[in-house]
Amino acid sequence: MFDLILRNACLVDETVIDIALKDGKIAALGEVTGEAKEERQLNGEYYVSAGWIDSHVHCYQKSPIYHDEPDSIGINTGVTTVVDAGSTGADDIDEFYEITRKARTDVYALLNISRVGLIAQNELSDMANIDKAAVSGAIKRHPGFIVGIKARMSSSVVGANGIKPLESAKEIQRENGELPLMVHIGNNPPDLDEIADLLTSGDIITHCYNGKPNRILTPGGELRASISNAIARGVRLDVGHGSASFSFDVAKVAISQGILPHTISSDIYCRNRINGPVHSLGAVMSKFLSIGMSMPQVIDCVTEQAADGLRLANKGRLSVGLDGDLTIFALRQQPTVFTDSELQTLTGEQLLVALAAVRAGKWFTTEQGKEEHAFDL
Ligand SMILES: [Zn+2]
Repeated sequence: MFDLILRNACLVDETVIDIALKDGKIAALGEVTGEAKEERQLNGEYYVSAGWIDSHVHCYQKSPIYHDEPDSIGINTGVTTVVDAGSTGADDIDEFYEITRKARTDVYALLNISRVGLIAQNELSDMANIDKAAVSGAIKRHPGFIVGIKARMSSSVVGANGIKPLESAKEIQRENGELPLMVHIGNNPPDLDEIADLLTSGDIITHCYNGKPNRILTPGGELRASISNAIARGVRLDVGHGSASFSFDVAKVAISQGILPHTISSDIYCRNRINGPVHSLGAVMSKFLSIGMSMPQVIDCVTEQAADGLRLANKGRLSVGLDGDLTIFALRQQPTVFTDSELQTLTGEQLLVALAAVRAGKWFTTEQGKEEHAFDL
């Protein structure tokens, strides 16, 4: 007896299958015989993918500047896993961990290399905040929760310290099992070339399509040599849309040259969720449908690629034995005006709408799904 069977789910490659879940895991795929405590008939009308993973969010409720509720940005919008990108450092990670245990969304953390986390905008302006022993202690206390480290490398954050905090981040990475390192880029100094040259395989550049002087394109619209070299070394690009870090112009030029993101993430927190321009991960994903990416490519960026980038081995794929996390969504042909972080707009023709999610084998109808009465059965 399974716990839940989704009947006639349409995958992104348009094949239609049944998906069975048991004990929080994916238990069977294909034509599933047998019974379940609960069945949902999707009639081939709704798409199902592995649960969406947002690789860059902010959901430490006690952060004075960037905060939100995990479920408001997660399961309520069809996102089964969120990764908080550096809201907390060693000082607050224990409390953050405790809070996230109550969430229905699966929450992970990238630990800020600054022990004070995001209590202000300039957490790396005092090198004394980078306390290696405190970082190692936190990583040892939360091995399943801290999946990597975060360093915000823009002028307002590092103050007069330039590239030095990134050198420390690389040392911390080497001393702590080569965890993934996510580096935020923004206003210079430090210059993007200097940042990119320090990064190695598996490191993640977030805000990759920002429109600031530290953008990945030269003034002539070519990809910077430092970035193409970094990508060739295995450095990954993450969107991290946010309030100030996503430019349609940069993304369109980059994508037209084949510079696709590895992961699409939102950098969401309460203000840019409620007031825009982020709104939800689904909304950010939809923007990429209107600037040259296909639906399967977009889904890949929040499933397989996201799981691989942050080494979430039990997520991101529809395979028997992996976590029972699914996102049920529709692709609507619906003209929609999208806004980037530079307040530029464009009209897209397609919209991804998350209608439900399954997290650890349990069904949740999203706010949008409830509004549309999509799953009243
Ligand atoms: Zn962020």
